[in-house]
Amino acid sequence: MSTTVQLGYLISACLFILGLKRLSKPRTAVQGNMMGSAGMLVAVVVTLLGFDLVNLPVIAAGIAVGAAVGVLLATRVAMTGMPQLVALFNGFGGLASLLVGAATLHLELGNDTLVSTDLATGGLTVAIGAITFTGSVVAFTKLQEIFNGSAASAAVLRAGNVVLVAGAVVLMVLLVLSPSSMWLWLLALVALAAGVTLVWPIGGADMPVVIALLNSMSGLAASTTGFVLGNSLLIIAGALVGASGLILTFIMCRAMNRTLGNVLFGSIDASGVTADADSVYEGKITSSSADEVALLLDTAEKVAIIPGYGMAVAQAQHAVRDLTRVLEDRGSEVVFAIHPVAGRMPGHMNVLLAEAEIPYDQLKEMDHVNPTFSQVDLAIVLGANDVVNPEARENPDSPIAGMPIIDVDKARTVVVIKRSLSPGFAGIPNPLFALDNTLMLFGDGRTAVEEISSAMAEL
Ligand code: NDP
Repeated sequence: MSTTVQLGYLISACLFILGLKRLSKPRTAVQGNMMGSAGMLVAVVVTLLGFDLVNLPVIAAGIAVGAAVGVLLATRVAMTGMPQLVALFNGFGGLASLLVGAATLHLELGNDTLVSTDLATGGLTVAIGAITFTGSVVAFTKLQEIFNGSAASAAVLRAGNVVLVAGAVVLMVLLVLSPSSMWLWLLALVALAAGVTLVWPIGGADMPVVIALLNSMSGLAASTTGFVLGNSLLIIAGALVGASGLILTFIMCRAMNRTLGNVLFGSIDASGVTADADSVYEGKITSSSADEVALLLDTAEKVAIIPGYGMAVAQAQHAVRDLTRVLEDRGSEVVFAIHPVAGRMPGHMNVLLAEAEIPYDQLKEMDHVNPTFSQVDLAIVLGANDVVNPEARENPDSPIAGMPIIDVDKARTVVVIKRSLSPGFAGIPNPLFALDNTLMLFGDGRTAVEEISSAMAEL
């Protein structure tokens, strides 16, 4: 590798690392994204110019087709379809590693210079790439609600998964001990099947965690591909993706108070550990109206809005921005309390509120906002449920026991906007709805917020 190429790769690696650092704050995230893209451009140009590539027109055509599909997908996908898009991107990454790893190894088998470590890294690349590819395709179909496995098939698939993973390990060992194309392609087939059996039994609502994990695996596969090709930048970039995906996976698990094993091989068990909905709610629910909420807001000095999955479903973020402006014009202070796993993907609420141009400094993280709830006159819970369920704090037997929550129940008055008393993702009742200081405003999130704004205009 020439010095120019190495220098180019060094610049790329620095741009990736600095870009990642900037992605950690909303204010600098766009800049971070640009730096990462610039790093990738430098890497592609340096690779194209620095190596003796025989089929440049084919590569150029591949880049053109890939770029066209990427632009089309990224510009046409709805905000609610973002997890599916990320799943597909991870899958393509895995497929690329699988193809490059398998092709390189296939060509070099029989070559005397091939040593055990080459065979092991090549085999790992094929196995991880294959699992990432089919696992991501299954995650995509689940999020798109094309397929959903039944509980019975889940048990069979989990058993099959153990057999397939054990089979893949045996084939890896055989590939290293007695190198042959047969072991290589069998390994690819078994790993492709293992990707399906691993992800298929996992519930659709746990898919965001799985996608973060698959993202990490696609990075790992890219990194091992770097070893196969002897490409230092691929090793660095893959390791960055692998590590950041794994960190995100654990942040999400911690925010749900679940282990990764529980997400992958278990599920939230909502049976028999909490009181039934009737005993929690009967005779204790106070319904409200948009007019009544407007009157409360009229005298509230400090208002906290707690968005959840229902805000995303109702696409209520623009209506919320309009209400926020009405309140601020009347002199109220408005903050948004953001739970790390509100919604169905990390940063879901931040993205929706940013789309509605709500300033970042109004978005407060859970740990920052929780101590301030005793000074909040009115807390509006908009389509959130589990992330404001006091059971997590108070009932050690609850399926969500220990999950950190937003302490809205400590506000002077709480208004919960949702369509019914249906549970959230965890499938358990929420005693918050039955508290003396809670008013329920039943209805679609967007319509309800629009009605409150209209009622305020008439005060
Ligand atoms: P929940 O899933 O707990 O509750 C959402 C609520 O929104 C429901 O109770 C529903 O009630 C209401 N809702 C649905 N549609 C509308 C609508 N159109 N208008 C108004 N309300 C509506 O959401 P949270 O955000 O509180 O919690 C997220 C959950 O998802 C947590 O349990 C978390 O662990 C889990 N999770 C999050 C991930 C992430 O990365 N963010 C990843 C994986 C899981 P109703 O039907 O009565 O309207």
